[in-house]
Amino acid sequence: MENKRIYLSSPTMHGEEQAFIQEAFDTNWVAPLGKNVDEFEREIAEYVGVNHAAALSAGTAALHLAVKLAGVRPGDIVFCPDLTFSATVNPVSYENGKQVFIDSERDTWNMDPEALRAAFRKYPECRCVIVVNLYGTPAKLDEIRAICDEHGAVLIEDAAESLSATYKGVQTGTFGQYNAISFNGNKIITTSGGGMLLSDDEMAVKKARFWATQSRDPAPHYQHSELGYNYRMSNIVAGIGRGQLLHLGEHKALKKAIYERYKAAFSGLPITMNPYPDCSDPNFWLSCMTVDPACPVKPYDIIDRLAEANVEARPIWKPMHLQPIFEHCDFISVADTPVSNDIFARGLCLPSDIKMTEEEQNRVIDIVKSFFE
Ligand SMILES: *Cc1c(COP(=O)(O)O)cnc(C)c1O
Repeated sequence: MENKRIYLSSPTMHGEEQAFIQEAFDTNWVAPLGKNVDEFEREIAEYVGVNHAAALSAGTAALHLAVKLAGVRPGDIVFCPDLTFSATVNPVSYENGKQVFIDSERDTWNMDPEALRAAFRKYPECRCVIVVNLYGTPAKLDEIRAICDEHGAVLIEDAAESLSATYKGVQTGTFGQYNAISFNGNKIITTSGGGMLLSDDEMAVKKARFWATQSRDPAPHYQHSELGYNYRMSNIVAGIGRGQLLHLGEHKALKKAIYERYKAAFSGLPITMNPYPDCSDPNFWLSCMTVDPACPVKPYDIIDRLAEANVEARPIWKPMHLQPIFEHCDFISVADTPVSNDIFARGLCLPSDIKMTEEEQNRVIDIVKSFFE
């Protein structure tokens, strides 16, 4: 008999989503904006602890508007994380800025503050930094923000993967002047697709909403003084989000239990789970592992064997400085060999789907363990 497929991270719906959508139908607020959008913005802003939020069609749209708000102009350098999904850094190119990639540190896998300092020594003119909280683990956000402040640079936080994670007791998505979260299908909560821009700066969020609705000047006829975008979230999609938000805490607890079970099962083996410091409480969006350096097992050996057993696993994000599209970009590291390359070479993402049963997770664990016996 074919084994039931185990997913990396698939949507988990509860029922309330449907009620919010029904309300939108009943009041014919199917499009464009409406009560669900307004309420979802308010609810997320309150949950995260920011003053203002703009609901958008994607996390990538939020990052794009953040880059615009940061004032990035053609030719401007933006320091970006090297180890991340390309959506973190693509918006810099939308504005014709120049990415300079910053290596990771080993404690959180995120932007290395020491490498960031080195980057400012080389490019003191840089005025914008994007930081990411990879796989739901907060970066060294205090240190990074202090370095940005020292250099008068705007910090953008890509919290797409880390909604509900905290750093020193404070929610991620609040550390940048502008912050992005995502409700893409595989994230900890999902609206099928969507995102939000978060900020304490009311004028900035108003400006983002203006750009996101085609930059219509306040005139009765259609008049435009600025380039516009169609980036707003629909009222239907926001309804899904409102229903999901009711279950965010539960999703986080389930994700953590998955991580803890992997960690316990792999203790004593040459495997290390994705690390996090005591001061942070990740959301454990994806459980990841690295094979210890001396061990000859390669991530693809494990990923391929899992695939044969109908289990979805995935490599670590391929570092940006190794991407053909970003070949021309500079890369700053203070390590002998880049930390990002090393994590990529030795790591993989394990199934972290919250509908996965303990028996199913044991199937995954047994396959991984079989490589080390
Ligand atoms: C998912 C993701 C994004 C983009 O979000 P979308 O809603 O898919 O556009 C950006 N950055 C990171 C790190 C992500 O994982």
